[in-house]
Amino acid sequence: MFLGHFATAYAAKRLAPRASLGTLFAAAQLPDLLWPVLIAGGVEKATIAPGDTAFTPLRFDSYPISHSLVTVAAWGAAFGAVHFWRKRRPRDAVVLAALAVGHWVLDFVSHRPDMPLWPGGPKLGLGLWNSVAATVAVELALFAAGLWLALSATRARDRLGRWGFAALAALLVLLYAANVTSPPPPSMEAVAWVGVAGALVLVALAAWIDRHREPSGLRGAAFRP
Ligand SMILES: [Zn+2]
Repeated sequence: MFLGHFATAYAAKRLAPRASLGTLFAAAQLPDLLWPVLIAGGVEKATIAPGDTAFTPLRFDSYPISHSLVTVAAWGAAFGAVHFWRKRRPRDAVVLAALAVGHWVLDFVSHRPDMPLWPGGPKLGLGLWNSVAATVAVELALFAAGLWLALSATRARDRLGRWGFAALAALLVLLYAANVTSPPPPSMEAVAWVGVAGALVLVALAAWIDRHREPSGLRGAAFRP
């Protein structure tokens, strides 16, 4: 999943409109931010194996720390706790933890049975990735719904808030299209470093654009300097 994870982050704006879109992106991507680091460190294993599923040339041999349900829930709780410690908004902290768990659920739907419940535990997966057409249809539908929820929960403060928001959404769709149509990557190291660098750039872009938007319910005298 790629767009599906961003979709949940956008949708979460409805539940946590004061949380930065960058923070929501990071929470929804949390397992995929940890995974490249663990792959590069040799702790987790994946192989380039075109045809393993129709959608991705990657075979996820072992990722118990970044992608088991129990550890993902723990990472999400830790992420939410750090956010609460800094911002003191309990609802936002719960939403952030839930986004991380939502990442596991979307991966569980997408992957073949390679998603562990806990490290060493049984592996599950519904295998949406066995069909490229079904994967793209589901992800685009989720993404459209998420964007609509974010747009209904926030409004632009200025032109960057409006056009930057649109450009970021377009960039995500373009990256997805490139990902779907590109040949298999040269090495797992390349996947790891491009993955973590790309995710951090997207988080930073989202955080920057988010500062030019505001919760739509909160506009008015109280928000003016
Ligand atoms: Zn993942």
